[in-house]
Amino acid sequence: MSAVTDSPTPTTLPDESGHFGTFGGRFVPETLMAALKELTSEYEKAKADPAFQEELSNMLADFCGRETPLYFAERWTEQLGGAKIFLKREDLLHTGAHKINNALGQILLAKRLGKTRIIAETGAGQHGVATATVAARFGMKCIVYMGSIDMERQHLNVVRMRLMGAEVRGVEAGQKTLKEAVNEALRDWVTNVEDTHYILGSALGPHPYPMMVRDFHRVIGTEARRQILAKEDKLPDLLVACVGGGSNAIGLFHPFLGDDSVKMMGVEAGGHGIVKGDHAARFQGGKLGVLQGTKTWLLADDDGQIELTHSVSAGLDYAAVGPEHAFLQSEGRVEYTYATDDEALAAFKTLSEIEGIIPALETSHALAYVNKVASTMSKDQIIVVSLSGRGDKDVAQAARYLLPDEKPLEV
Ligand SMILES: *Cc1c(COP(=O)(O)O)cnc(C)c1O
Repeated sequence: MSAVTDSPTPTTLPDESGHFGTFGGRFVPETLMAALKELTSEYEKAKADPAFQEELSNMLADFCGRETPLYFAERWTEQLGGAKIFLKREDLLHTGAHKINNALGQILLAKRLGKTRIIAETGAGQHGVATATVAARFGMKCIVYMGSIDMERQHLNVVRMRLMGAEVRGVEAGQKTLKEAVNEALRDWVTNVEDTHYILGSALGPHPYPMMVRDFHRVIGTEARRQILAKEDKLPDLLVACVGGGSNAIGLFHPFLGDDSVKMMGVEAGGHGIVKGDHAARFQGGKLGVLQGTKTWLLADDDGQIELTHSVSAGLDYAAVGPEHAFLQSEGRVEYTYATDDEALAAFKTLSEIEGIIPALETSHALAYVNKVASTMSKDQIIVVSLSGRGDKDVAQAARYLLPDEKPLEV
């Protein structure tokens, strides 16, 4: 990496206590404090250790398939008739999404900490699969908590995890989806903290997770920045990414934060529209609160009860957003919008047909925003969008909407 293309982004946040401004922090039971402090200090050491960084980058290259291409979507650009659209191809990574960047980083850290047992939560199953994958690779016992409804919706990923030797534990509490799976994982960690590392799957949870997960995904933006400068000899005008917990988005955005000319848009799940219980767009009608260890924007009623969420994509269907996004929104540095289920499905169809790339339904929310905005921009402007994952896991669901005459796929 040459000095010229190195990111100028200041990485001074979070502060010592894990705060991004008023957001973030560490809201956990006393029993987890020691483990989080140990994790923070070991992470700081690993970050500064060239041997750790070398093993990480070798494994990212040879096991995961980095660097990923920055691909010019020529036909889509022509169709929309405005800004040039580039896709950062995280969908080409091993296991099919950006999630493995973080799972790999964290298992190397677990190894350093002498842990032998790995736990994780998963929603759509992509993080569970990434975790089961690295656990198999490093010979560690792996238990993945997953809501029983998600297990039904994402049976294929359940089978993938089991094939790699992971134990998938169904969670029957509450809405039987991601939030409940996180609760179970936290409960397990409290009980087994001696030998267990919790690989949390997004830029969420108590400090140091939002920082650490961000750092492991920064490679997305660092590569994209270098690649766009090499291809176009200038910085992009706009970055776009979908935001569940916010890990692929912060990974792309962070290395550009110091570039004032680069605008950034995070796209949340608008579900059936912004009506209570029908969406997961925390910046639209959400409020400030604490959920699962961190202070951030979330969807709750006036008593602080977490509201039901809905999205066509299981990976965006979470009631809280990562605290650094809450901070970047409050600073006005990043803007946040939403795409509805229908807009995401339309974008899913477009990319499949016009570029020969079937995107994940999560990713399709980012693509839906590009569909809206590209034609309003001029032809010499550039959009870089995070293609966070591929759509193999979503074909059955997408077919139900897009190919209604097709015999239903069994997954
Ligand atoms: C999990 C997932 C997301 C959402 O998670 P973030 O932490 O917001 O990135 C987005 N896209 C894909 C493909 C995913 O698997």
